[in-house]
Amino acid sequence: MCDTPEPGKLLHVPARRRALFTALGVGAGIGVLGLPSPALAAVAGWSNPTRGTLTSGYKSPSRPGHLGWDVANSQGTPIYATADGTVRDVKTNSYPGDTTSGPLAGRTGNSVHINHADSYFSYYGHLHRVLVSAGQRISCGQLIGLMGNTGNSTGPHLHFEIHRPRLTSLDPRVFLANRGITLGSTAPVGSTGYPSVSQGASGWVPRVIQYLVRARGISVVVDGIYGPGCTASVRSFQSSRGLYADGMVGPITWTALVLPLREGNSGDLVRGLQTALNARGASLLVDGGFGSVTASAVRAFQSRNGLVADGLVGPVTWSVLI
Ligand SMILES: [Zn+2]
Repeated sequence: MCDTPEPGKLLHVPARRRALFTALGVGAGIGVLGLPSPALAAVAGWSNPTRGTLTSGYKSPSRPGHLGWDVANSQGTPIYATADGTVRDVKTNSYPGDTTSGPLAGRTGNSVHINHADSYFSYYGHLHRVLVSAGQRISCGQLIGLMGNTGNSTGPHLHFEIHRPRLTSLDPRVFLANRGITLGSTAPVGSTGYPSVSQGASGWVPRVIQYLVRARGISVVVDGIYGPGCTASVRSFQSSRGLYADGMVGPITWTALVLPLREGNSGDLVRGLQTALNARGASLLVDGGFGSVTASAVRAFQSRNGLVADGLVGPVTWSVLI
């Protein structure tokens, strides 16, 4: 296993909390390393970069030099940033043997390299189209490109890597599993596709959480910053629902927060929906009104993601959206 946290990053997780996570089945990664997953609590805001079938693994026996996972799906499948960060490098029109830019340029075709906090970076290869540019600030879960077959590739797939320089490359599937996320997951209801979000996170995902919490009548400032105030409000929501009040939004809290929406609805839940749709490529006014424009943005999102394009936002659409 390469996904060993730095000693300094280890965070004590009380036994009671570990037991509860295990009882709830939260965090597929717990136990993978034979120890509680401190990263689950310590790192906020990671998400599944795309959906599809895992076809080739990290340092697989037949490809020991393969430092990522391949996730196959149809050309044009959305590719999302795995965490907040800044685009370091975008490589387009690269050709086999070209190593002038980026660690895998050429072989991985159109590619994106994103730097994250704490020296992590992620790498996305073989894209059909790149939708971001170098220097651009990126939010966790933001649409950054479309799956493709460029570079040394025999079919549309994402080549996905996570690194932490001066340590080693990481197994991205294990890395995400330790954060409760299933790489490539197409599992809809109650899936672990929801990111685990906790204090310190910022961006559109915390903003959606704030709208959803406020929609339940709990006061919270909607500023996209998951600070102590936001944590307290999430705790209030969790207590009101009989959930373990740890102030973190993981898969179980997400499932409790989202409610079905359809055209004609209004209010903060709709503002949360519109915020998420905008992060996924729409350009809606966040006005809390679920009218025909929002409905068509929902249908466009559903059809891009292989869902039934009925314009209804149920648990499946919510889980893919977040
Ligand atoms: Zn690959």
